[in-house]
Amino acid sequence: MNLDLKQNLQGKSTFSKNNPITGERLADYINYSQYEVEDAVNNAQLMRAMWQQLSFYDRKVLLLQWAKYLANNLEELSSLVVRETGKPDADAALEVALAIEHISWAAKNAKAVLETQSRPSGILLFNMDSKVQFMPLGVVGVIGPWNYPVFTPVGSIAYALAAGNTVVFKPSEFTPAVGLWLAKSFEVATKTKNVFITITGLAETGKYLTEAAVNKIAFTGSTKTAKKVAASCAQNMTPVILECGGKDPVIIAEDADISLAAEYALWSAMANAGQSCIGAERIYVHEKVADRFITTIKKLALEVKPGVSYGPATMPSQLQVIEKHLKSAEAEGVNFLVGGPNSIQAPYVLPTIMLEVPETSVAMTEETFGPTIAINKVKSNQHAVDLANKSNFGLAAAVFSKKHAEEIASQLECGMVSINSVFSFAGVASIPFGGVKESGYGRIHGPEGLLEFVSAKSIIKPKFQGPLKLTTFSRRRIAEKITTKVIKWLHG
Ligand code: NDP
Repeated sequence: MNLDLKQNLQGKSTFSKNNPITGERLADYINYSQYEVEDAVNNAQLMRAMWQQLSFYDRKVLLLQWAKYLANNLEELSSLVVRETGKPDADAALEVALAIEHISWAAKNAKAVLETQSRPSGILLFNMDSKVQFMPLGVVGVIGPWNYPVFTPVGSIAYALAAGNTVVFKPSEFTPAVGLWLAKSFEVATKTKNVFITITGLAETGKYLTEAAVNKIAFTGSTKTAKKVAASCAQNMTPVILECGGKDPVIIAEDADISLAAEYALWSAMANAGQSCIGAERIYVHEKVADRFITTIKKLALEVKPGVSYGPATMPSQLQVIEKHLKSAEAEGVNFLVGGPNSIQAPYVLPTIMLEVPETSVAMTEETFGPTIAINKVKSNQHAVDLANKSNFGLAAAVFSKKHAEEIASQLECGMVSINSVFSFAGVASIPFGGVKESGYGRIHGPEGLLEFVSAKSIIKPKFQGPLKLTTFSRRRIAEKITTKVIKWLHG
């Protein structure tokens, strides 16, 4: 049985979602107004007490029921992903599979991470019992992109729910049905209402969510929009996680396995038509192995077929950005190893590899988000690290080296590094995901991702009356002297 995603459109403002390959209209969806967004947030606020008061065990059971529903209906959800993004079936199925892993991990680990903890009180206040309680925040507004419309928002949604929050989710206007399916499947699997709500709409709907009575916003999308979201959230002091774009480097050292590096770097750059926040956009290869690497990656790239290996540009306007980057590289005299400035063949982009691109070129400084990659030679590992770190972005990176990978990884200014592999950190639920610099702040996934959706409250009480009464006007001189002596003895 397929989930019924029908919305009652009568009298509503609507928008159309088109097929990314043919451009024909697929369906219309409600463009939630400010009033409707506030209404949804109020409904989620009304359910927060119920959801918060459930035990960790009860929430785990419900979240695992949802994970099970997704696993049993994986094909139904992944076919919607294919319909709305145009990506190949297998890529959509993999995305859903990884999201299920995250739901399961968040469900099973919330208790261990978020249970009230006892903390040592120190010598001076040894008579006190000190605890930290992790309070759910309330309603978390999640705003998602279209490139991984299941995996990306679930990284916030599942962790926020596991931490005891209710959720209002605004999916991208390019993937509304996927967003509706996620909330509907949760409702069906858990038999709850208004714990996880999806609101569809355009950019304004996302803005209304940032202005509504939410207790945190978890945003994933472009850096440009992230800045607007942060500014809007600042008006109400609403805390925010920003998961933004990247310009991810791949470093290939002299001792790297060149075939492996070429195979993985190419996939990282071109899978999902290059529409991956953690996809490779810059390759820094040691000059001593550069020719071998370039020959290998060229051979592999010629086998990559748009429409088979990857899908179209899901957001048609991205084609103009890709074209701008390729045309300016051409104007700067860049040599194209594969493809060229005419690689844009809407709705597809042909695989494109550029050589020796100036570091100041927009193709090196801005997120291209297409199946394109720049390869620049470097003189040393340090040279590669310096160039990698020069970017305004700092999301992820990959390093290929037999002996020096960890040393290189430790110097990179970014949130995630995979060694002799690519993307792998996204599939490991126990480690955090997020960036630095213009790639954003805050973390999803892992214990850090659970801690993002709670506030820490310190609770302290006397176990017995201690000898040093310090917080009273009748404090005795001897108590002050002992305190000073103890501190000097401890730290002097
Ligand atoms: P956008 O920034 O265009 O949009 C992201 C979301 O924000 C969409 O739901 C969008 O709605 C909504 N939105 C737009 N304007 C506003 C606003 N003023 N206030 C609140 N919400 C708003 O990003 P894309 O959807 O184009 O996604 C691609 C980007 O996402 C890339 O830069 C990519 O690198 C990044 N990304 C980052 C990831 C990470 O984890 N770091 C993971 C995946 C993608 P609408 O669609 O209706 O405009």
